[in-house]
Formats: sequence, C-alpha cells, structure tokens
Amino acid sequence: MLKELINNFALLTSFLFFGNLFSRKYERYLKNHALIHRVMNGLMLGLFGILLMMTGLWIRGHFVVDLRQLAIIISVYMGGSVSGLLTTLIISLYRIYITGGWTDISLTATVNCFMTLVVSLIFIREKRLTLSKWMSAVLGAVVVSLLSTFFVANPPNSETIIIITTVKMLGGLFTYFMMSHIKKTERAIHLLEEAANRDHLTGLYSPRAFDALFEEVLHASKTTKKPFGLVMLDIDHFKKINDTYGHLNGDTVLSQLGILLNRESTTRAYPSRKGGEEFAILLGDCDTEKAASFAEKIRKAVENECFLLNDGTIISLTVSIGAGSSPVIASRHLLEKADEALYEAKRSGRNRVKLAKP
Ligand code: GH3
Ligand code: MG
Ligand code: MG
Repeated sequence: MLKELINNFALLTSFLFFGNLFSRKYERYLKNHALIHRVMNGLMLGLFGILLMMTGLWIRGHFVVDLRQLAIIISVYMGGSVSGLLTTLIISLYRIYITGGWTDISLTATVNCFMTLVVSLIFIREKRLTLSKWMSAVLGAVVVSLLSTFFVANPPNSETIIIITTVKMLGGLFTYFMMSHIKKTERAIHLLEEAANRDHLTGLYSPRAFDALFEEVLHASKTTKKPFGLVMLDIDHFKKINDTYGHLNGDTVLSQLGILLNRESTTRAYPSRKGGEEFAILLGDCDTEKAASFAEKIRKAVENECFLLNDGTIISLTVSIGAGSSPVIASRHLLEKADEALYEAKRSGRNRVKLAKP
C-alpha cells in the first residue's frame, strides 16, 4: 500500500509540475481567453482524476481508496466553478462507464463527486490558497467520501475508515504544500522578470524587453497577416529642464512621463524607455494610420499634462514623434525609419508627429 501511496504522490507532483509548465508557456494567450483556460483546466483535471482512479490504493484486497476528489478541489482552485464542474462530470461519467452503467455504486460515486464539488466551491476561491480553507475542503471531501462508502454493499470497518481518512488528508496536505511552493516560485520568477524587463525610473519596458517584444509582435504580425506599428518619441529640450531645475527634477519628469505613457497605452501597446529621454511604443495589430493617430494622441496628452517638480512647481513640456508601421516599411528598417521621422519632427519645429517614409 505504501508503494501505491508513493505512486499517487509522484503522479500529483508530475501533474502539478507539467501543468504549471504548460500554463506558463501559454500564459499570455490564456490570460486573454479566460473561458478557454477554464475549460482546458477542467478537461485536464478530469483526465487526471481518471488517472488517480486507475492508480487507487487497495486496502485489504477488497476496498479501494483513490484521490480523485483532489482533482476536483485542484480544478476549482485553478479554474473556478466552470473548471470544477467539467472535472466532476468527466470523473462521474468515467465512473459510470467502468461500473457498466447506472447502478447503486455509480450513483453513489456520482453523488460523491458532486458533493465534493459543492464542498470545494464553499471553501476554495479561484487562485487563492490558504492552508485552513484548503484543508477544510479536503476534510469535507473525506466526510463526503466516508458517507458514500456506507451506501455501498460493504460498509467499511473502523480500521478502513482510519486508512481512508489518513490517505486523503495526507494527499491533500501534500498537494497544498506542492502548490504553495509552485506559487511562491512563480511569484519570485515574476519579480525577477519584472526587474529585468522594466526600467526602474519610468516603470516602462527596458530596452532588453523591447527587443524581445519586437520579435514577439513581428512574429504575431506574420502569423495573423496584420500590420504592426512603432512610435518613437523624444522630449523636446530636455537638457534645458535638467539645466534649469536640476537632474533630480529631470528624473521626476521622466517618471511622470512614464506614468502618462502607460496610461495612454492600450492593451496592445507596449511602451518602453529606449534610453535617456527617448521612448519607443510598439503597437500590435496597427497600420500607419492608426500609429499616426496614436502618436498624435500621445503628443496632445503630453502637451496638456502638468508635470509636478519636487518643490511643487508645475511645468509643461512637449515631445517630438516619429511613427511608422510594418510591412509598409520592412520590419528590419522600421526602427531606423521611425527614428529618421522623429528627427524630421525635431528639425521642422518640434512638438509634432512625422510619418516614417518607406
Ligand atoms: P532635443 O529637443 O533636440 O531632443 O533636445 P534635448 O535637450 O532634449 O536633447 P539632448 O540630446 O541635447 O539632451 C538630452 C538630455 O537628457 C541630456 C541628458 O543629460 C539628459 N538625460 C538623459 N538621461 C537622463 C536621465 O536618466 N535623467 C535625467 N535627469 N536626465 C537625463
Ligand atoms: Mg530630447
Ligand atoms: Mg534625445
């Protein structure tokens, strides 16, 4: 029995590890398609529940205890009620199938699964993990499972009840610690990624992240056959702000401009600080016309913004912008052409938008 228990724990570990790997790989896509994410979760955990049933632990050769209820609890935690319901349905249908149809046993098993779902929905909130809530759900599942065993032909003796309870509680505790470890690691990776990908002064993407995003947006543009845009922006006479108010106030202005660019950027716009007082904004699914109107929107927003210095002084500033899009301009020349347009905007008087020429 110990061997089977270890097998089950190894299964839980591999499933959580690979499940996490998979969701990290498709993170960006799944974030924008919540329902697909939940359905996939429900399906995967349903199949996992079947696997757990196949590797159940035999007690004294006639009684099987398995961890299928954990699949339902995990499913609710990862994907909420939709995911949990799907997992419950899959496990129940499989149970009916292996029992050979609608019998007392399959009916009890189905009620057991749905009761577990109800218990999980009571205690577990999607993506929120606390030991007390988690173990309350596991304990609830144990009670449901013990009650259901009394309905089948051979009610278990006290020794069997103790074994069922111990195995399920241990499985629940093991899963909790695995998942909380994964969650902590995820958070640490996220923080490190943020530190590497974000410019600390403005909070915008770093030049390193810009390069990676450029490749990503280019790839998406080739796949979807939709254009993508680029806006290059430079503060006008920024040196004067530094000279007049000091470097620290210059930093304050840069930081406020970062907030403004983030605020004005839609979900498909990626604003980054290219260096110094130069910025670039990548625009997914965007042609030249849209890039130009986005650039104009930014120009106006900066012009109308009140920048607050450290001593409370309010100043205003302007930016010059170059904008273009690909494939009208070949992607490998887009940066250079948008930069040329930006300097054209500077030459022709600043505080204006110029379009990149193919
Ligand atoms: P133009 O309108 O032609 O762009 O004029 P400009 O003064 O903005 O351009 P220039 O390239 O002459 O000066 C840019 C200044 O930006 C010089 C540099 O000291 C300042 N700068 C670059 N990075 C930072 C920074 O991180 N903080 C501060 N405060 N200033 C910076
Ligand atoms: Mg400048
Ligand atoms: Mg500059």
